[in-house]
Amino acid sequence: MTLNKLQALLDLLLAENKFLRESIQQSDSGDAFKVAVRQWVENYSKERPHLNKCCESGELRRHDFSKLNWKDVAALRMMDYLDHAGIKVQDPSLSIKEVISDPFGQIYEAVKTGEYEFRVDFVMDMIMLFRQFSGKLKKSVPTKEKVMEWIDRHPSGLDPEIVAIRKDNRDRIIHKFIDMMDKGRIKDAKFFFEPGMSKHDKYSAMRKWWQTRLFHLRFAIRDPEVLIEMLDHSLAKKRIRQLRRAKVAGIPTFVNPYYLSLLMVDPEKHLKGADEAIREYVFYSKELVEEFGHIVAWEKEDIVEPGKPNAAGWILPSSHSTHRRYPEVAIIIPNNMGRACAGLCSSCQRMYDFQRGHLNFDLNRLKPKTSWPERLEQFMEYFRNDSQLRDILITGGDALMASDKSLEVVLDAVYNMAVKKIEDNKQRPDGEKYAEMRRIRLGTRLIAYLPHRVSKDLGSVLRDFKK
Ligand code: SF4
Repeated sequence: MTLNKLQALLDLLLAENKFLRESIQQSDSGDAFKVAVRQWVENYSKERPHLNKCCESGELRRHDFSKLNWKDVAALRMMDYLDHAGIKVQDPSLSIKEVISDPFGQIYEAVKTGEYEFRVDFVMDMIMLFRQFSGKLKKSVPTKEKVMEWIDRHPSGLDPEIVAIRKDNRDRIIHKFIDMMDKGRIKDAKFFFEPGMSKHDKYSAMRKWWQTRLFHLRFAIRDPEVLIEMLDHSLAKKRIRQLRRAKVAGIPTFVNPYYLSLLMVDPEKHLKGADEAIREYVFYSKELVEEFGHIVAWEKEDIVEPGKPNAAGWILPSSHSTHRRYPEVAIIIPNNMGRACAGLCSSCQRMYDFQRGHLNFDLNRLKPKTSWPERLEQFMEYFRNDSQLRDILITGGDALMASDKSLEVVLDAVYNMAVKKIEDNKQRPDGEKYAEMRRIRLGTRLIAYLPHRVSKDLGSVLRDFKK
């Protein structure tokens, strides 16, 4: 099936592009074919000064970039493929598997030998690239009205029908928890029932607990079997198998009750799939399950050794609490509760940090350590003495998992560092001044995972920082 599809797509690519078809026929090697493609693209680019400049210098300056049209961008991409043909890339998210980039060489080999080293999405992407270059595919930016029309096709969490379903879900979860507590399957030092409470009293007590974020963190589902039970055994067999395999592979399960209440169980036909975007965050892909435990880094810049530059050339004060790829931007991962999240997203780019245990859901052990304030100071000195930094992303895990107090400590430190940068610049002559802070961002998904976190007190912390 896939082979047939691949063949059909490859035939389409060649049928739409006479030049490609003829060049492959006339070339006696992949290299000869790539020379022909290069010549073809260069014939176009030499008529376009800004594109030509980018191709020749290998650099893309903002001024030139703004002059490029849609077809130029396709040409640039093709030249980039040709310039880097044969390059070997080690992918740290695939157990350092070596990947060779040679799109045109692969197309040539596939046409000549009938053997495919690529997948369907690769050929589809090439079809689109050549349509872009030929002008068949026009650049289209949807209007705001169109985007709103697309959004309106899906039910919103504010629709009365969805609100009612989620309330039912909440009650179903609460009743299951009560049952588990009654049977002694859940014991919690903070949230417990007094002896003699009726079912109704227990329900009322848990409805109050439901309003607190602590309840959702302490009662988060940490085991696939409980998750299956909580969803009323509504999951497909394949999903259940995948969940169990994820557990064996060592991927944590962490779904808080609030988020769980957003997942539909046995929805009516017109709502089937309506919660897919929410649901997909909970269930891990086959690829992730197979890879977990062997991820060396998510991106090569994540590999940090003391005193040595990372792949982007930055020497960082810590491999755990700072990341950096770009001159203007640095990431801080505070050494506190911010190293947890209110749920584990299946698409998490920090899965490597979960794998090595730096991020985790052990909420008691993530309280700030006594050494953290000194380390924070050390990071701020590093940022203060950096000539290019303008933007700091405070993240985690999830930046808002930290308490208001801990968050305030980090924000104050960043603010003081930014002020010192301005003061330092006053002593520096023109032309030697350092970049000053322009933007501080908080990386969080708590607005979706646990909106209970957004409290008046948090608002005050953020408002004070903004002032
Ligand atoms: S909130 Fe962010 S860091 Fe946490 S699991 Fe999701 S994507 Fe990963």
